[in-house]
Amino acid sequence: LAARATLTGLYNRRHADAFLARELEHAVLLGHPFSVALADVDRFKQINDAHSHGVGDRVLERVAEILASRARDCDLVARYGGEEFLFCLVGMSELEAAMFCDELRRAVEQERWTHLASGLQVTLSIGLATRRHETTPLALLHHADVCLYRAKHLGRNRVVSRPAVDSGVA
Ligand code: GH3
Ligand code: MG
Ligand code: MG
Repeated sequence: LAARATLTGLYNRRHADAFLARELEHAVLLGHPFSVALADVDRFKQINDAHSHGVGDRVLERVAEILASRARDCDLVARYGGEEFLFCLVGMSELEAAMFCDELRRAVEQERWTHLASGLQVTLSIGLATRRHETTPLALLHHADVCLYRAKHLGRNRVVSRPAVDSGVA
């Protein structure tokens, strides 16, 4: 029970970090593909301010349901921060993971949020990192975080993965 975050019922950060370390080690040993994705609710502070903290909480619960309903049994989806979610996509190549993440993004965008509050719209930005030479969770999470930051700066409501060749910028 302690492995679950209270509001959303998803795994919490501590559990996610343990899962990530274990699964990444497997992937490295076996040479299998492995992806992590960080999803962050866009302009969530504005949602709280414009509607209420209660509506904000219900948005997080619903986003969690949408994400969890799309994860495969072997994947992990966790609440990683306040309005941030982590996906560990076991065995997923970069292309598969990018398509999967865009489906998540679209599912959240297309939800009928106005049922929750009049005028409400919710979108996600997602930073995706598929393992290349990285062998540690920290290295992989760093790349996902850089991609998430880029997704925000490019205008939000999008998935950004790493360029085919590391540019050296990040
Ligand atoms: P961005 O698109 O750049 O991500 O903007 P943002 O507003 O989503 O990001 P920011 O980090 O400025 O704000 C996140 C907000 O999320 C601030 C905090 O009050 C709110 N928040 C965090 N956890 C919860 C929660 O459990 N419930 C509610 N209702 N709000 C939360
Ligand atoms: Mg955030
Ligand atoms: Mg946010």
